[in-house]
Amino acid sequence: MSNITMTKKVHNYSAGPCILPAEVMQKAAEACIEFNGSGLSLLEMSHRSSAFVDVMEKARALVKELLHVPAGYQVLFLQGGASLGFYLSAMNFMKKDGKGAYVNTGTWAAGAIKEAKKLGKVEVLASSEDKNFSYIPKGYTIPSDADYLHLTTNNTIFGTQFHDIPSCPIPLISDMSSDIFSKTIDVSKFDLIYAGAQKNMGPAGSTVYIVKEDALGKTGRDIPSMLDLPLQISKDSMYNTPPVFPIYVAMLNLEWLKDFGGVPAIQKRNEAKAALLYGEVDRNPLFKGVVATEDRSLMNPTFVLNDEALTARWDKMWKEAGISGIAGHRSVGGYRASMYNALPLESVQVLVNCMKELEKGA
Ligand SMILES: *Cc1c(COP(=O)(O)O)cnc(C)c1O
Repeated sequence: MSNITMTKKVHNYSAGPCILPAEVMQKAAEACIEFNGSGLSLLEMSHRSSAFVDVMEKARALVKELLHVPAGYQVLFLQGGASLGFYLSAMNFMKKDGKGAYVNTGTWAAGAIKEAKKLGKVEVLASSEDKNFSYIPKGYTIPSDADYLHLTTNNTIFGTQFHDIPSCPIPLISDMSSDIFSKTIDVSKFDLIYAGAQKNMGPAGSTVYIVKEDALGKTGRDIPSMLDLPLQISKDSMYNTPPVFPIYVAMLNLEWLKDFGGVPAIQKRNEAKAALLYGEVDRNPLFKGVVATEDRSLMNPTFVLNDEALTARWDKMWKEAGISGIAGHRSVGGYRASMYNALPLESVQVLVNCMKELEKGA
């Protein structure tokens, strides 16, 4: 089969959906034409076929292997994005007359709080809203009578990240949409991890759930089938038709990550990319970071120009260098350079070179 190639080299800093490795896209494109010599496209194949069941099993096994998921946990690929995860997580963990505890670290955490309130009582333990979510709150007390604590480990829009997970006496739930697979984690600290695929795992359309089986089934609620984690576990993520193509591409991407050397190897490169960019943001007198240094995200560094009068020149410069997607989120402004796993160090060097160029000409 002939190669399908891109016509243009772009340094893709998109916040999500985001960059995926070129070889993953190549294999995904091939599977759309014909899947593994079967005479069928992956898109026209039954999800109950042994070919697809193998894909699903492989994808789940790779999640377990790459994150060292301990025994007693299940891995699911469901639909609805992390935004359904906000509600689904509360539905599966908040007792009928119970309450959920939350830390409000910005837009996505606020989304989780909003959905949980539709089910019952919510206690917001801490918030960084007072400083436009530019830091991670610390030093709050976790109430022992809450059914769970919910954290958003990486705040994609504001560029903050939990670098230490607080020790938690109650079940811990985490939305890891934008930092899953970017660094090693201790899964045993969490009762539920969920993540929309389109930031570090694959294309939009599937959501991974990693859940401690023992923690489920305690709410006394009658949970709708599609949101019912024990039911989804009993059906191997195939209660209904799963999103076959997104799951296949996620599987390819996880294989790529394994070949790369796994999570510790990608973490090393992610740290190098972040050090390179933040180093320049801190050194270059034309730029400044906008979040507390100790809480800076490795995935979504945010920064601003000190002198807004340079905006037009700066924007022209990075666009001409083939950089795409560094305009800040519409709710924050400034710049956000999302540096997910597939972004090479070379792309960060191009951005840093642009920043140096701007300084020379200023
Ligand atoms: C992008 C994102 C979401 C929303 O994900 P959807 O899959 O679009 O619902 C939620 N939480 C975080 C941390 C995100 O980065």
